[in-house]
Amino acid sequence: MIQLNHVSLEYPVTRTLALDDINLHIRKGEFVYLIGRSGAGKSSVMNLILKRISPTRGQVLINDEPLSKYRGGKASIHRRRIGMIFQDNMLLPHFTVEDNIALALRVTGVPQKDWHQRITNALKMVSMEHKRSALPLQLSLGEQQRAAIARAIVTSPPIILADEPTGNLDPEISVEIMKLLQQICVRGATVVVATHAKELVENFRHRTITLRKGKIVRDDPYGGYAL
Ligand code: ADP
Repeated sequence: MIQLNHVSLEYPVTRTLALDDINLHIRKGEFVYLIGRSGAGKSSVMNLILKRISPTRGQVLINDEPLSKYRGGKASIHRRRIGMIFQDNMLLPHFTVEDNIALALRVTGVPQKDWHQRITNALKMVSMEHKRSALPLQLSLGEQQRAAIARAIVTSPPIILADEPTGNLDPEISVEIMKLLQQICVRGATVVVATHAKELVENFRHRTITLRKGKIVRDDPYGGYAL
């Protein structure tokens, strides 16, 4: 489903070689961790999959289709297939939980008559129906992240990318968030999680890809944390 074929990425101004001849195949419905020290290239891989950046060499493909096809405004069509979860939940502070989630539906062009039900389903999935009308600042950090997950899944994207999704959360809440991400995967999404959270990677075992200085140095189907 997600394929990187001989992908290298050099950032133009600094000429940093962030990724060096990466080959990677993530199958439909897989749950994959991307680990590595700061600067190893994890965000660069995420940004390539999102087509926020393009590789200097090689190809990124989704469902066997090269992303180079999606030029200019067409990149947004590709991005609709991806639900993104960040360390900072990026909820808009003056919008309620419901309105934050509705924005994702608007961007993807889901008919307005379906919004209420879709938002209800997404909030149920993350056990947040009772916080529908709350503003982000009226929520705990864990609840904010759950709302952000609802926003990511409301359009039922086939791919979920999570960049340090538990980075700001205490261990107990982090476990909840991990369980949620696993449920989303069980329901059929392909889930890629970039993380430093050693305990979680050890306790919730999934295929784990380790990056070091822009190269894949380990790709372990049984998981475990080793940098
Ligand atoms: P990680 O997410 O694992 O911390 P990144 O993908 O952010 O790693 O970074 C990989 C390398 O690319 C690092 O050396 C980083 O300094 C460099 N880098 C990241 N973003 C940029 C950028 N926009 N311009 C120049 N260099 C960058």
